[in-house]
Amino acid sequence: MTPQELKSLVRTIPDFPVKGIQFRDITTLIGNGPGFAATVDWLATRVKDSGAQAIAGMEARGFIFGAAVAAQSALPFLPVRKSGKLPCDTIGVDYALEYGSDRLEMDPTSVTAGQRVAMVDDLLATGGTACATAQLLRQAGAVVSHAFFVIDLPDLGGAVKLRECDVEVAALMEFD
Ligand code: 5GP
Repeated sequence: MTPQELKSLVRTIPDFPVKGIQFRDITTLIGNGPGFAATVDWLATRVKDSGAQAIAGMEARGFIFGAAVAAQSALPFLPVRKSGKLPCDTIGVDYALEYGSDRLEMDPTSVTAGQRVAMVDDLLATGGTACATAQLLRQAGAVVSHAFFVIDLPDLGGAVKLRECDVEVAALMEFD
């Protein structure tokens, strides 16, 4: 399947979650078996080329793609979770949203010192989530140099922000 065909599988929902936002919905992409497989293949190829030794996925849609890529690549998967979800001792990072703030947490024992960890998520917008995740993984001792996304919204500047955090970015498709 070509990137253009994969892009056509993403559904756009106007005014979600608030008026004026065009939500790019990957439900229809993962609901197409060959489309999901081709997307995971694309991500897994980039992960392999990056030399990553583990994959971190951000809750919740990053789990869908990140876990599939990790299993296909026979690499460990590290879930980066919203606050209060993990049963073990955690480390966390607070980060700013457009309105208010949020917190991400992880199990610090899931990373070994110097382990190369790549981030995988469905969509890059402002880059706030991925930058906070990189910070958290580095706090746990990981080396974080790559992030892979299904969708990039370049107008929102996430790739620029991530480069400022010393993270290289690649995305399968872009939407204006
Ligand atoms: P950022 O932190 O880069 O501003 O936002 C990216 C995060 O918000 C990702 O974890 C992503 O799942 C979620 N997100 C924001 N907008 C959208 C959207 O239009 N579609 C999807 N699927 N996720 C979005």
